[in-house]
Amino acid sequence: VPEVLDADFYGFQDLLTPVEQEAVGRVRDFMEREVRPLADDYWDRAECPVHLFKPFAELGSVGAAWSETRQFENSAVFRGWVGMELARVDSSFCTFIGVSSGLAMSSIGLGGSPEQRAAWLPPMARGDLIGAFGLTEPLSGSDTARGLRTTATRHGDTWVLDGAKRWIGNATFADVVVIWAKDTADDQVKGFMVRKGTPGFTATKIERKQSLRIVQNADITLENVEIAESDRLQGINSFKDLANVLRVTRDGVSWQALGTMIGAYEAAVTYTKEREQFGNPIASYQLVQDKLATGLGNITASIAMCVRLAQMQDEGTQRDQHAALAKAFVTTRMRETVALAREVCGGNGITLDTGVARYFADAEAVYTFEGTRDMNQLIVGRSITGHAAFV
Ligand code: FAD
Repeated sequence: VPEVLDADFYGFQDLLTPVEQEAVGRVRDFMEREVRPLADDYWDRAECPVHLFKPFAELGSVGAAWSETRQFENSAVFRGWVGMELARVDSSFCTFIGVSSGLAMSSIGLGGSPEQRAAWLPPMARGDLIGAFGLTEPLSGSDTARGLRTTATRHGDTWVLDGAKRWIGNATFADVVVIWAKDTADDQVKGFMVRKGTPGFTATKIERKQSLRIVQNADITLENVEIAESDRLQGINSFKDLANVLRVTRDGVSWQALGTMIGAYEAAVTYTKEREQFGNPIASYQLVQDKLATGLGNITASIAMCVRLAQMQDEGTQRDQHAALAKAFVTTRMRETVALAREVCGGNGITLDTGVARYFADAEAVYTFEGTRDMNQLIVGRSITGHAAFV
């Protein structure tokens, strides 16, 4: 297991404290030992190694953002770096962990009352409970801010949820799914913790997916689902509160895109040194080197962007447009890098055996979720011009 990544060309890892570097080392070691050997087979079968959630959580970085669960002081750069290390080996595994550790725990961490945080976050950080995050709907993806159709109606101390969700990762096995719905009284967005087995809640796996195949995404139906007021996120009262959660988690997707392109780039470097054509390793040819250098440039620019974005998160200066610019830029660079990596592997690059095809396919979902590239560009465009082009 490398102590330093060659793809970290400018040595950004040095920005981490010694304690953080050690924790990153444990994650890297875990990913190489436990995940890399099984990633291609699980991906091929579209199955999720749920049994690895608990051992991964025992490394201590799940939910590391939340004071209730912190095992050591850590920075947003550290948390992002961990996500990058997961995606570098398997972008699906990064999503599987991130949906619970990032999306679900951030919803509870930012939107929960002190009692809710104390009740849910520690067991989730220990890996005893797995979370999911249900925002997207069959008829509402990019426009969830205004297009949410799932409703929440209050009757005394009980809420009744009705509607449908689509694409919800981990939902078929999660212990708790955070469901976002519109309050029929004030038309504002509210968040609800729906526990496993709640009557009226059904999650059906989406089959035949060709990207992030390890992630178990589900269609959810909610029919007269009764939730106690004590399981409503007490700090969420509008779409603005939800947007705060999404800004933090969008940073995580930029780091994931970075890890995805590093994984493909590393596999391509290895392959091109081994593969010979015209009597020489293809790595010795100028056009191949040009593609590898382009990949390394994309990676280096993206690390710089992710690192600064994370520092702004810690400084409290990060705005929606900062997170949006990084998500759009890094995922675009990722898409180019995985395609170049696939290209230098020739025909073998489209089989799982060369180690590039999985990243190539997975990049498509990363490019689209948590705000498509275009929606994020439009958030930046609104910030530049003062005109919202999408409302
Ligand atoms: P649409 O909104 O239908 O967009 C289609 C196209 O139209 C895009 O190119 C988009 O950019 C473009 N477009 C839309 N509006 C405009 C406009 N005004 N101007 C210009 N272009 C526009 N969601 C969850 O809640 N929880 C999850 O766990 C989750 N996991 C996911 C996992 C995977 C593998 C995938 C693929 C998705 C997941 N999602 C999840 C949903 C994801 O966030 C949405 O797919 C994403 O927000 C885009 O929505 P959509 O797919 O409905 O696309």
